[in-house]
Amino acid sequence: MCRHLAWLGQPRSLAELVLEPSSSLLVQSWAPRRQRHGTINADGWGVGLWAPGHDGPVRWRSPRPMWGDPSFASMAPVLRSGCVVAAVRSATVGMPLEESAVAPFTDGRALVSHNGRVDRAALPAARDAESTVDSALLAALVFDRGLDALGDVVREVAGRDPAARLNLLAADGARLLATTWGDTLSVLVTATGTALASEPWDDDPAWSDVPDRHLVEVTPDGVALLPLDPPEPT
Ligand code: GLN
Repeated sequence: MCRHLAWLGQPRSLAELVLEPSSSLLVQSWAPRRQRHGTINADGWGVGLWAPGHDGPVRWRSPRPMWGDPSFASMAPVLRSGCVVAAVRSATVGMPLEESAVAPFTDGRALVSHNGRVDRAALPAARDAESTVDSALLAALVFDRGLDALGDVVREVAGRDPAARLNLLAADGARLLATTWGDTLSVLVTATGTALASEPWDDDPAWSDVPDRHLVEVTPDGVALLPLDPPEPT
């Protein structure tokens, strides 16, 4: 994905989180402000969330640009959640263009989004990956190893592909985890919850930038930032 975001806190509507802010994910799909790779994010979009009374996350994904989905815009004000992951995609050259290649990916328990690219030869074959896109193979590896290993997975994969860009964003309904490895990420702590986003969705001065090569963990108790060690030697 080329731009992704997550929210953990009091339930908020998807319209509030993804559509309405002045530089929302919707706006970032055609006019991202900080994107380093690719110019627009028109190769699909996806939103995953946890809903009361339902086990595991539910998703709405599309291979179309986010701005071309009026049905989503009409439902978004009534879809509310306290744990959300959303993304808009700019497909890496050579990767499939299909709904199943769009983040967030899931194993039924967690959600994972990937902003970046990685040589698929650096990843183990994953029979249960949702797509052959690099991000789905990487997500399958994260699901296999568990969210607690997110930082280790990034360092291992970077050891096998030093050119990889590995900004990952993951959620399990109770916490968010993210890595910075080659692209931007910002964090916003509010009285009602915490947002992580590839770039700020508005001009609130409370957004702060996460330095490159860090792991971020967001729980109801707060935000923890840990530097990631260099890539694991292969
Ligand atoms: N490599 C992924 C894809 O092709 C993500 C691309 C990106 O972050 N722009 O979908």
